[in-house]
Amino acid sequence: MIEIREARANNLKALDVDVPRGRIVVFVGVSGSGKSSLVFDTIAAEAGYQLNETFPPFVRNRLPKWARPEARRIDGLSSVVVIDQRRIGGNARSTVGTITDAWTYLRLLFSRVSTPHVGESNRFSFNDRTGMCPTCSGIGEVVVSAVERFLDLDKSLKGGAILLPGFGNGGYWYAQYADIGTFDADTPLREWTQAERDALLYGGEHAARLSGRLPKQYEGVVERFERIYLRTADNLSDRKRETLARFTRSALCPECRGDRLNEAARTATVLGFTIGELARTEISELAALVTTVTDPNVAPVVAALKARLDALVAIGLGYLHLGRGTSTLSGGESQRIKTVKHLGSSLVEMLYIFDEPTVGLHPRDVASMTELLQRLRDKGNSVLVVEHDPAVMAIADQIIEIGPGAGERGGTLVFQGTFAQLRRADTLTAAELSRQQPLEDRPRTPRGRIIVTDATRNNLKNLTVDIPAGVMTVLTGVAGSGKSSLAAELVAQHDAVVIDQKPVAANRRSTPITYTGIATPIRKLFARYNDVPAGLFSANSDGACPDCRGLGVIYTDLAFMEGQETICETCGGRRFVPEVLGYTVDGLSIADVDDLTIDDAIRRLPDRAITKALSSLQAVGLGYLRLGQPLTTLSGGESQRVKIAKELREALEPTLYVLDEPTTGLHLRDIGTLLNVLDNLVEHGHTVVVIEHNLDVIRRADWLVDLGPGPGKYGGTVVYEGPVADATGTATAEALRV
Ligand code: ADP
Ligand code: ADP
Ligand code: ZN
Ligand code: ZN
Repeated sequence: MIEIREARANNLKALDVDVPRGRIVVFVGVSGSGKSSLVFDTIAAEAGYQLNETFPPFVRNRLPKWARPEARRIDGLSSVVVIDQRRIGGNARSTVGTITDAWTYLRLLFSRVSTPHVGESNRFSFNDRTGMCPTCSGIGEVVVSAVERFLDLDKSLKGGAILLPGFGNGGYWYAQYADIGTFDADTPLREWTQAERDALLYGGEHAARLSGRLPKQYEGVVERFERIYLRTADNLSDRKRETLARFTRSALCPECRGDRLNEAARTATVLGFTIGELARTEISELAALVTTVTDPNVAPVVAALKARLDALVAIGLGYLHLGRGTSTLSGGESQRIKTVKHLGSSLVEMLYIFDEPTVGLHPRDVASMTELLQRLRDKGNSVLVVEHDPAVMAIADQIIEIGPGAGERGGTLVFQGTFAQLRRADTLTAAELSRQQPLEDRPRTPRGRIIVTDATRNNLKNLTVDIPAGVMTVLTGVAGSGKSSLAAELVAQHDAVVIDQKPVAANRRSTPITYTGIATPIRKLFARYNDVPAGLFSANSDGACPDCRGLGVIYTDLAFMEGQETICETCGGRRFVPEVLGYTVDGLSIADVDDLTIDDAIRRLPDRAITKALSSLQAVGLGYLRLGQPLTTLSGGESQRVKIAKELREALEPTLYVLDEPTTGLHLRDIGTLLNVLDNLVEHGHTVVVIEHNLDVIRRADWLVDLGPGPGKYGGTVVYEGPVADATGTATAEALRV
């Protein structure tokens, strides 16, 4: 048993629980009930902390830091592996092949049996000097100027026609173009000749006729931009990096055309295929192909390669190819790849912790995931899973429900037992398990249509799809069938607003208070109630703690190490001097306000501006968040709902919204809330398009676009479009009927 006593992380209420080892244990409960606080912030954190303690200080300093969780005692832990949905990363050198080691074996195969025979396996590595393409250094892409974004042709030089920072009127480089007498600084660029515009951008060579009129040292806008930004790309400031992102794009490497390898490696073949061709072949096909290599000298290499490929196929990722950059994988795909990696490991008695492994999976694909979890357990490991999908609960050896409610109203153990027992129990999860959204049999009437034409992105087979405007459409299909590709095409053709799960804030100081802009109304409320100036409650007034200047924390800059924040000792983190803390509203001091949940704040802070701003967050089911909680602590699903709230507050014109799996992280009960929010968007005249696997969401949609039939090249077509209730004969239709 893993024994946990008096766990108090976040909202946990001195929670005692025994979690069996060597089993699959699924943690359920409404969003915000404390599942992550128990599983990640307590169990995983303690396991990580204990592991670090076993290393000498020298090593410890190089490991990720784990804060010791708040609990009286935690026993029975072993080495922990957390398999979350964090994407595998933006490193351009990481591919599906490299991350699963399949590439290592493919390289080995080429080094042994390719024609012409090349030798060492590093010569096929795009991460090695002897193998990489010299033009792109093994990235397969090069960064080029997006010249079309450099100029605003409707403006003159004086009016700011050059959009690059530093080149506009008053900018550092401005005079080098506007004041040299060659160009007419008062006329919009559209009225210039093509030769003049070319000379401006590229210098004399591109406009021979004009070159006589240019100063000797003249440097075109593009030349200058590339010298300043592209040639020094390694150590750019954040501001320059942003500029770089805005005015450049990546293009296929002109030398290797994406193969990442140098000429010798690029042209060698096995079975008549180059390694680049094999990198672009779907994994399921590659798995069949490699078995036709019959040379006995490489039998072990082929077997190892085949095992890796088969594992990827088994988990439903056979539609990917080894050359696929890991930074382009979805969260669910990344998670499944990480799982495959661990299945290959021979370690036993590990503690595996999964965060919603079914994200991104069609009901048809969920079975391959549950099978993987069972295989991990059967190898002698403990598998803890935070999950909302009943199909995963069904394979659990034990289910633990945290609740009963969210935030303050959660944090206790409400159920522990088998799935069958849970179904008969009196908990929110049990209640939801027995309920099902009815099929939407009276779809709303569209107000026109939005047409996606000739879509060929990724695997899409030249699709033309009508999306009804002013209603809710759901995009379905097995993983890899092309849903995201179609959504991306919709966004590209119609400039939709994407409401994704990326964090809403990069800054720890950003909280629901700052985000909704209620800091000033709160100060005014305190001023009104106590008949003192509002400025007193501001961080840059005399009322603020003089030592931390109203921050509550002291920041210590440690020259060579990461800086550190400690609670201010003078005010104990309460940010204000005692006199100011004495002023109250409904018994709350200005510092107490940070600890209020949104629900409580709406009840206890009598001010229309405050309640109005907060009620949009309440309406999307986030009433349990605390006003002072850093937005950096929100999960992907919570961040997404914060963004929906913002759109509900602010969007005036009918807008096209695209959401990718908004049910991620949502308990069955919260899905009802989400559906109301989506309905709310539609009632405001907006068009909503969601990629979703959750059957309750699909049932409530007005229109269904089902892609398939299979993944990758077996998908990319529309297998059904029409009202949800009429769908038949597809994998999704089948799932809807069960
Ligand atoms: P679940 O995983 O069940 O959705 P969590 O464990 O993430 O719930 O959250 C439980 C409660 O603790 C929620 O009210 C949440 O807002 C709060 N919480 C989570 N992380 C933090 C944090 N880092 N700081 C403060 N509050 C947090
Ligand atoms: P879904 O959203 O239905 O899971 P996707 O649209 O993500 O499917 O993928 C459809 C096909 O396009 C898959 O074969 C996938 O591997 C491929 N694909 C998706 N994104 C990329 C990309 N950035 N680069 C190359 N192939 C991609
Ligand atoms: Zn190249
Ligand atoms: Zn202080």
